[in-house]
Order: sequence, then C-alpha cells, then structure tokens
Amino acid sequence: MIRENILKVKKLISSACSKTNQEPNLIMVVVVSKGRPIEQIKEVIEAGIMDIGENRVQEALSKYNKLITHNSKLQTIKWHMVGHLQTNKAKEAVRIFDLIHSVDSLRLASEIDKQAAKINKVQDILVEVNTSGEATKFGLQPKEVMGVLKEAEKFKNISIKGLMTVAPMVDNPEKTRTYFKALRELRDEINNLQPAACSLQLLSMGMSDDFEVAIEEGSNMVRLGRAIFEG
Ligand SMILES: *Cc1c(COP(=O)(O)O)cnc(C)c1O
Repeated sequence: MIRENILKVKKLISSACSKTNQEPNLIMVVVVSKGRPIEQIKEVIEAGIMDIGENRVQEALSKYNKLITHNSKLQTIKWHMVGHLQTNKAKEAVRIFDLIHSVDSLRLASEIDKQAAKINKVQDILVEVNTSGEATKFGLQPKEVMGVLKEAEKFKNISIKGLMTVAPMVDNPEKTRTYFKALRELRDEINNLQPAACSLQLLSMGMSDDFEVAIEEGSNMVRLGRAIFEG
C-alpha cells in the first residue's frame, strides 16, 4: 500500500507542478513517520524516499538507533525534525537531525548553535512562521522573522535554509492558499534584502490535506504522513 500511495502522491505532485510550470523533481517529499512502526519506515525507504520526518526527539532517537545499525542503505536516511523542539532537547536533536524545520525563537537557534558547535557540526535549520496567527500554532509572527534572521547571523554553527509553516485545519484546502502565499512572499521579500549568497531556498509547506495547493504556491518541500501511510 505504501508503494502505491507514494506513486499516487508523485502523480498529484506532477499535476500540481504542471499548473505552475514547476519541475516535479525539485519538490522534496519528507515522509512524516510519527506514530508509525519501523517496518513501515523501511517500506518507505525501499520505495525510494530517503527523507524521514518525526515530531518528537525521543521517538526519533529510538527509531534512529534501530535503523542506523541495520544496513548501509538505511544509514543514508535524512532525518527531519518537524515538530516543536524544546530548548532542552536541542542537544539530542543536533546529533540525529539533518534538518530542523521548527526553529521558532532566537533562544532555540542559539542553543542549537551551541550544541552543534560542541560536535563540530553546522546544523541546517528552517525558521517556523505562524502565517495564520492562530494562538495554538508555533512559529514566529511574520514581522518578527527578519529581525531574528539578522540576529542569527552571528551563529556560526547553524545554517538557515528557508522557512516552514503549518496551515490551519480547514474544511477545504483552497482556504490554506493564503497562508502558503504569505510564506512564499515573506521568503521573497527577505531574499530581496539579502545578498544572494544567503538567500533562503527552502519553503517547507503542505501536508496530506493541502500539499497540492502548497506546491501551486511555491512549496518545494512537502511533509506527508497520512497520504503515505493511510492513503
Ligand atoms: C504530522 C505532521 C505532518 C504530516 O501530517 P499529515 O497530515 O499526516 O500529512 C506534517 N508536518 C508536521 C509538523 C506534522 O506534525
């Protein structure tokens, strides 16, 4: 089932891309495997997707330890932290994650920088933005982002690759469009103010219910759980 679901998702990504003249191969699919067993993650890897997302450090660590020792193919998995990260978990997070999507404060960025320095790593991160302003959502307010990026320039052990957002739950995916558009416009605005060398490339936006709209609005990294495991 997982293999079929991946094929189905790839087709939907292609048709979303064709509407806006984008190249489907440039859309990264992160399969979010929170709450799913190791066996299912192996199926995802067998089907050719190497980007795995988790939303809790403890669960990720346990899966990482089980998978990493298994065989060399599994060692090439790229691990993504997509959930809220507490500052006191930064130390463990930098040990396993290739990309942390959910950096939502200068304090967290600073702690990630400090912990990454200890292991001589430059940690790739995204800045999470609360594009809907919902009180229940994590993320910086859009107007805070530029200031945080400026301050974060002094951190030598983080590399900010782009922005991430989680759209509100809505009855019709069309209603998420405005939030995705807002994130893309914010990214473009920031890039216009910065030297090209530090431009933000990644836009992590779109989940199972709304990834097609997100791609139409410029997403290049979708985070999919149910569309892959439940279809
Ligand atoms: C769970 C989760 C996803 C995947 O959600 P689905 O709706 O199952 O695709 C994506 N992003 C984040 C931050 C998540 O917590």
